[in-house]
Amino acid sequence: MDPLPLEKSPQADLPNDLEALRQIVSQCHLCDLAKTRNRVVFGEGNPKAQLMFIGEGPGASEDATGRPFVGRAGQLLTRMIENVLQIPREQVYIANIVKCRPPNNRVPTPQEAQTCLPYLLKQIELVDPKILVALGATSYRWLTGDKTPISKIRGHKLTFGNRILVPTFHPSYLLRNPSKKREAYQDLLLIKELLCEVS
Ligand code: SF4
Repeated sequence: MDPLPLEKSPQADLPNDLEALRQIVSQCHLCDLAKTRNRVVFGEGNPKAQLMFIGEGPGASEDATGRPFVGRAGQLLTRMIENVLQIPREQVYIANIVKCRPPNNRVPTPQEAQTCLPYLLKQIELVDPKILVALGATSYRWLTGDKTPISKIRGHKLTFGNRILVPTFHPSYLLRNPSKKREAYQDLLLIKELLCEVS
């Protein structure tokens, strides 16, 4: 399914304030994921970040804490940010395609992703990062509508509106496939270089 055309998206009706948006999302029941979630995971980080990471959806640890990327995959992402990019995690912004945990960590359905996507697009508009990093195939596909496998598209410098988009592997995938960390490291070096260029 194609992503929503930015100029016609329902996010046009959402508030132009990140905290007000958080309040709305924290009470959202627009899709069935509301029935099984414990906490809505809105996203966190520097509200003026130059760099935004976008994952697929919350897992068990995130659902329990209401914070994105705090489980094992999140700890790996934090190390990637702090050790390779050499910036504090708090300096970037981290969010997901869906804000509520899909049961048993299944992939969000197209309906769930499409229903939730306006929140993310509004977050992107408000934080206004210069660089987006799509973590994994689901994130990349929902942002772009492109079904190219993540193994083929990772590490490319793409565009998303007037922003740079770099797809890379999801940290959960890297935990299951440690041999892919080398490629992820290369992607991070590209992101670091791009970050220097836009800063
Ligand atoms: S996943 Fe998104 S659309 Fe669905 S209930 Fe949660 S916040 Fe609302």
